[in-house]
Amino acid sequence: MSTSQPKYGVIGHPISHSRSPVIHQAFARETGIALTYSALLAPLDGFTATVRQFRAEGGRGLNVTVPFKHEAFDYCDEHTERALQASAVNTLVFPQDPSGPVLGDNTDGVGLMRDLAYHQVATTQKRILILGSGGAARGVLGPLLSTRPALIRIANRREMSAHELVADFHNGPTHATTETTLTACALTDLLEQEEQAFDLIINATSASLSGERLPLPATLIGSHTVAYDMAYGVAPTVFMDWAAQQGAQTIDGLGMLVEQAAESFSLWHGVSPQTEPVRALLRSMLHSG
Ligand code: NDP
Repeated sequence: MSTSQPKYGVIGHPISHSRSPVIHQAFARETGIALTYSALLAPLDGFTATVRQFRAEGGRGLNVTVPFKHEAFDYCDEHTERALQASAVNTLVFPQDPSGPVLGDNTDGVGLMRDLAYHQVATTQKRILILGSGGAARGVLGPLLSTRPALIRIANRREMSAHELVADFHNGPTHATTETTLTACALTDLLEQEEQAFDLIINATSASLSGERLPLPATLIGSHTVAYDMAYGVAPTVFMDWAAQQGAQTIDGLGMLVEQAAESFSLWHGVSPQTEPVRALLRSMLHSG
């Protein structure tokens, strides 16, 4: 591949597990757009230096993953409304003129919403539980609120972080919470409080990555509950296994990953790629190891 092609990539730590290069290269083939897309491992204290070098080598855009989404937010000169809402950036757009402003966006929310639509999961007037209050939870909260659920409860291991997230949205730029009851609690409160079953439970913790089981009571699951894990892998996650045992429909985060990537691609190239073939490609790659 010629080095004169526009350069894109994904930056994170760790990064070798990332499927983003496969996804963006597949989108590029499908749309006929010439580009290179690589994975950049940045040292934990070297986000800005790595981005600077990538730009100096002609980089035009980056996806950002764990743990740099907040640093990426601070790095940007301009933010989209959804990045402001999330206080986190997963897509950087670099101007051709190196002195021009860097734009930051957050496509995690639209990725989740498109995947929920794909699986025909409704959110309006529904009771939703979000487990976790990190960057991914922040990214999806605004788009979820805009569909006017009846309730969103955020439960996090560090209770304070869940309260901060709720407070940020109550005081934030969009005031999208007026029609939804938005509450926060500690993860362990779910065991102690008599909760009614939820329509949708979204696991936005990174517990699945280490195969850790969350302390959740079976009463959270009702006959129509959908349990969505943002993580994905060859096999269902521990959370999905637990939820399925209680009778929930389960979905993993592979579709969200593809849809958030499609939104980044569209931002960079002005073309919306088809996502169905890439969903199938990734699923088959996962199963073939
Ligand atoms: P962050 O590091 O920002 O947040 C991690 C969250 O998980 C925090 O709320 C943290 O709680 C919680 N957590 C971590 N370990 C545990 C544990 N053992 N038990 C309970 N809670 C725990 O990560 P992100 O928000 O960026 O990502 C979260 C997950 O979502 C990851 O699995 C990531 O891969 C996935 N993701 C998937 C995407 C997709 O497209 N499919 C897109 C973005 C993320 P505390 O505050 O107490 O530390």
